[in-house]
Amino acid sequence: MYDAPPTPATSKPATTRLVVLAGPTAVGKGTVAADIRTHHSEVWISVSATTRRPRPGEVHGVHYWFVSDEEFDRMVAAGELLEWAVVHGVSRYGTPRRAVLEKLAEGRPALLEIDLQGARQVRRTMPEALFVFLAPPDWQELVRRLVGRGTESAEEQERRLETARAELAAEKEFDVTIVNTDVHTAAEELVALTRSHSNSPEA
Ligand code: 5GP
Repeated sequence: MYDAPPTPATSKPATTRLVVLAGPTAVGKGTVAADIRTHHSEVWISVSATTRRPRPGEVHGVHYWFVSDEEFDRMVAAGELLEWAVVHGVSRYGTPRRAVLEKLAEGRPALLEIDLQGARQVRRTMPEALFVFLAPPDWQELVRRLVGRGTESAEEQERRLETARAELAAEKEFDVTIVNTDVHTAAEELVALTRSHSNSPEA
């Protein structure tokens, strides 16, 4: 359910079209982003670099840039990442800076799907971006989604739940909340935000 229409354009200057989507683990950020990729090619979605291993079906350069620890170190040292973080205490994830700046310069709506630590970093460097929190319908549903995915060990699931508890508390730091009851509906709401958060003629 989604009970309040978002009004970000009135509360923030629309100087960029950057939208940052964050939210607790397993809330479905990746699925919402995939839905946007399928139905809204006009929205560019950043491809993050990560040191984690690919899951079955994940493609290098599409879902992530899968890089070694050494390569990630190099990217950090060279200042190539807009933000980066160790997520769930294990792997590193980061947003390649240049691609984001290029898309924004082209005037194309850009979406970052990142964790809370990353969102906080982007808010420091690009406060004009719109920060959107994707929330689960309730906690039990979040647990069900996390366990249901079945791709992580019990230990890893517990670690991710711990992260999720802290992440849920961060909702108030965001400009807008979208409740992910239905993936396609949530995706459409997010795309509408990328439009309202811009000065473009087609917005
Ligand atoms: P997963 O391993 O399930 O693909 O992603 C784990 C977490 O990493 C998700 O919460 C996702 O939002 C986050 N993540 C993905 N890419 C980035 C990134 O570039 N930066 C940050 N800070 N987090 C990311």
